[in-house]
Amino acid sequence: MPRTEAPTGAQRWVPPHAQSLDELKAAAAGCEGCQLYENATQTVFGRGAAHARIVFVGEQPGDVEDREGLPFVGPAGRLLREAVDDAGIDPATVYITNAVKHFRFELRGKRRIHQNPGPAHITACRPWLVAEFALLKPEIVVVLGATAAKALLGPDFRVTRSRGVLMPWPASAQHPEDFPVAEIQALATIHPSAVLRADDRDAAYQSLVEDLRVAAHALGAG
Ligand code: SF4
Repeated sequence: MPRTEAPTGAQRWVPPHAQSLDELKAAAAGCEGCQLYENATQTVFGRGAAHARIVFVGEQPGDVEDREGLPFVGPAGRLLREAVDDAGIDPATVYITNAVKHFRFELRGKRRIHQNPGPAHITACRPWLVAEFALLKPEIVVVLGATAAKALLGPDFRVTRSRGVLMPWPASAQHPEDFPVAEIQALATIHPSAVLRADDRDAAYQSLVEDLRVAAHALGAG
């Protein structure tokens, strides 16, 4: 029977003094901090450079990511990696993760249809993001799309209004003290899946690359 009570949150699965991202990833594999682990194949943790200068945060793993156990390996991930290259960001400086680390979906026949994670899932999963940031201490966090923006920058943050602008960690963010905010600048942009859905895909892709170039310049690249 699926559980219906409020999620307990990931905190009790997070090792208190984790020394490495691998240690976090291994612990996250057993996380039952919310209901999403029950139907998904596996936890999809972040991946990339252990000393990344730039961290990308998306919404949640998709169907392909859920099966492969790696973030951003599906069509949206391929598009993002292309955009990172086109913006002139060195992939060796990148770490990529999601606000929620299990795939939320609805079964329609045999098809698994993506469902947005709810606020309770985002809150439940937040301790993993906090733990990743504590080890990574990135210079720039690129927030991909509305769900990640709400998780990190606060419920009032609007990607469409503030995309492509490098900014200090906003005061509107919830519990900013959870993150090494003095060291981080944030930049919001659209999620790469929004490019895939756009009527004018070329224009949407170019706008994503333009946003990422702002981050590239700040890193001294691009
Ligand atoms: S979505 Fe996050 S909090 Fe929920 S079970 Fe998965 S890892 Fe744990």
